[in-house]
Amino acid sequence: MSKFPQLWQSTVSHWQATNRGSSALYGYPAGPLPHEADIVIVGGGMMGSALSYFLTRGNGAGAGKRVVCIEAKDVASGASGRNGGHVGPKTYALWHQLQQGYPLGAGLSPEEAAWVMQNERDNLDLVESLVEKEGLDVDFRRSELLETHHDLGRTKWCKEQYQAWLTLRRKMGLGDDQTRFVDDAPEAERLSRFRDVTSVHVRPGGSVHPHKLATALMRLALDSPHANFSLHQWTPASGHPARDVPYSGASALQNTYNTLDGHYLVRTGNGELVLGGGTAPLVRAGLTPMSLVHGNEDDSEASIDPAQTKDHATFMRHFIGWGKEAYGEGLVRTWVGVLSSVLDWLPLVGEVPNSPGLSFAGHGMSRIFAVARGYADTLKTGVWDAKLLPECFQITEDRLARAAEGHARWVREHGPDCKVVEGHIIGSATAKL
Ligand SMILES: Cc1cc2nc3c(=O)[nH]c(=O)nc-3n(C[C@H](O)[C@H](O)[C@H](O)COP(=O)(O)OP(=O)(O)OC[C@H]3O[C@@H](n4cnc5c(N)ncnc54)[C@H](O)[C@@H]3O)c2cc1C
Repeated sequence: MSKFPQLWQSTVSHWQATNRGSSALYGYPAGPLPHEADIVIVGGGMMGSALSYFLTRGNGAGAGKRVVCIEAKDVASGASGRNGGHVGPKTYALWHQLQQGYPLGAGLSPEEAAWVMQNERDNLDLVESLVEKEGLDVDFRRSELLETHHDLGRTKWCKEQYQAWLTLRRKMGLGDDQTRFVDDAPEAERLSRFRDVTSVHVRPGGSVHPHKLATALMRLALDSPHANFSLHQWTPASGHPARDVPYSGASALQNTYNTLDGHYLVRTGNGELVLGGGTAPLVRAGLTPMSLVHGNEDDSEASIDPAQTKDHATFMRHFIGWGKEAYGEGLVRTWVGVLSSVLDWLPLVGEVPNSPGLSFAGHGMSRIFAVARGYADTLKTGVWDAKLLPECFQITEDRLARAAEGHARWVREHGPDCKVVEGHIIGSATAKL
């Protein structure tokens, strides 16, 4: 049986991690797999994606046909999504190697080898023109490729091969193609900014976000009006089904959550998971000092709480079938922020008695926009519209007095540093709840 797709859990590449959002096809819903097709592409790596793209152009071999791509995992999850992103045509060194007899090389004639190298060179222009023509947002960057040499022996060999290759290119009408060989060591060092080089070969090159490129080409195939194209991820042609877990693949979490002990969880458009909250149980259990959570205005690293970091790192275990994250996944970043809240859980909207101005507190983005719209309307009409803004949001003398009186009462009952921690009053006079 084929070793592909792999059974093991792959590492997560930089490219995969930075392209899991709406631009990616990570959670792309496949329709039912057709019973028959004119062309079946097995594998949605760069090759399968590029082929899908070219076949589905108006003049492509798949025009007017049923073309199907089946991918065992998700698009560009293999080598194509975990390479270096370098589009770097080789030149004289591989030209020389291709002329060596098998198995050192391919036993090609110098001319045949020169055409192979020219094909690599054309490929760079092809990627560039595709990116431009289709307006692809794939971080393509055309630049020069600097090949450095670090001893005089290597410089001598490279220069000889370079000159032989260039002479042949000129003879074949292929020209110099913007390449140059600099064997003046100080100039080579200045050009390359690399210490102790003896020479540098400069030629056209480029780089790209390979995962974005494969995805973009696959999307163009999916959007093509010329062919009946479909992509089926998590569909191995043979062998075993790939992993399918809550953090990855077709079963990846799609929704937001409010769950256990005040935690909230958001899946971003980029497929990352943001976990917040959950401090109250830690404070109640005495694992997190109250001073770190309440009355703390410091959002620097000093306020990062090891107990909460540990809690967040292990929280996902509560999900059924979560399993072990791949290397490169798991907790990647922790941060803190300062959040103000009000004792009665209601926004404070309107003029503060004896102190005009708008004030706001309470339930953040779940309320802000509606409150802003309502208060903007009030400022325009001079009338408080209860349909836009509940009356109880208004700041009144009574409300302020209630808060002051309530706080004084709590201090009497629970001590001077008492706080409401998600429905529980906690203070020095209160035993840990
Ligand atoms: C670490 C690394 C760095 C590299 N750096 C560079 C670089 O900088 N520049 C460069 O040009 N090249 C680089 N390469 C090489 C380049 O990535 C590969 O040549 C290229 O991605 C191959 O593309 P592919 O589509 O043929 O293969 P893959 O990307 O591997 O695609 C094959 C696909 O087939 C799927 N598949 C396998 N079995 C089945 C099955 N039974 N049914 C359905 N689907 C299946 C796999 O899941 C996979 O998605 C690098 C490679 C690696 C690994």
